[in-house]
Amino acid sequence: MNLENALQLLEESNGSHLYEIFIPSIGKDIKFKPITTGQQKTISKFSVGVKSFSLKYEMLKLSLFDELKHDDDDITSSELTEIDIIAFFAGVRLNNISEPLEIKFTCGECNTSFDYKIDLEKIIERCSKYNHLEFDFAFDVNGNKYELAIADPSYRNLIELEEYVEQMRISMDYNDDDITELRAFTKPCLYIKTVKYNGSDIDGFSRAGFVDKLKLYNSLPPKITFNGAKSILSLILDEFDLEASTNMMGEIKCTNPLCLNKLEGVLTNDSFFII
Ligand SMILES: [Zn+2]
Repeated sequence: MNLENALQLLEESNGSHLYEIFIPSIGKDIKFKPITTGQQKTISKFSVGVKSFSLKYEMLKLSLFDELKHDDDDITSSELTEIDIIAFFAGVRLNNISEPLEIKFTCGECNTSFDYKIDLEKIIERCSKYNHLEFDFAFDVNGNKYELAIADPSYRNLIELEEYVEQMRISMDYNDDDITELRAFTKPCLYIKTVKYNGSDIDGFSRAGFVDKLKLYNSLPPKITFNGAKSILSLILDEFDLEASTNMMGEIKCTNPLCLNKLEGVLTNDSFFII
């Protein structure tokens, strides 16, 4: 058997070892192929090497979903929510790597280290019970009717927002307070799924990239941002659990068995690729 045949055989054998992961936003199981050593190597390298936001790494993480997905229908990576991403990574880790996922903690006082085991099944279960945000928002300005459908943003839009914020930090010399304000003003546009203006739909808005969404959002009347208790931002803040992704992953609060000091840490969706 030559290398070409071997690769072909491996590809076929991967196809016969499928597993399912429940994707919360569409409420169903999707079939996936096993991760290859090459894919694991690339993603692990990035997760260890990335210190701050990296568009390249985030897009790589998303593309893993399309690469591993067995069927072409259902859902693409650009539609996944943040909670879907957590469920997907936890599922990939659980079904592909038999060693338990452990995070090493080092106590700042006595310098002893110990491993804390992450319960992947619990994370997956929490994600499956997550209620995605869904409501309509309508308002009139000067006799014109605006109707918006509000839903959880896609993870792709979220990373595009972070890239935009990063660019503003560099090009406009924004400080941390400016960035916080910019994010608060801009983020609501990611929650708009569809827009109707005087009864007619704006085509393609739900699939639009962040830049196009932002352009339209910036042209909407200020009622959307400043309307007392009824602005879109306040509605989202009321109904949406901003800590949802942190809650899914679970904050780690544990006791160092060696010195009994209490240690805390937060998991992120990068934690799944630690080996
Ligand atoms: Zn200690």
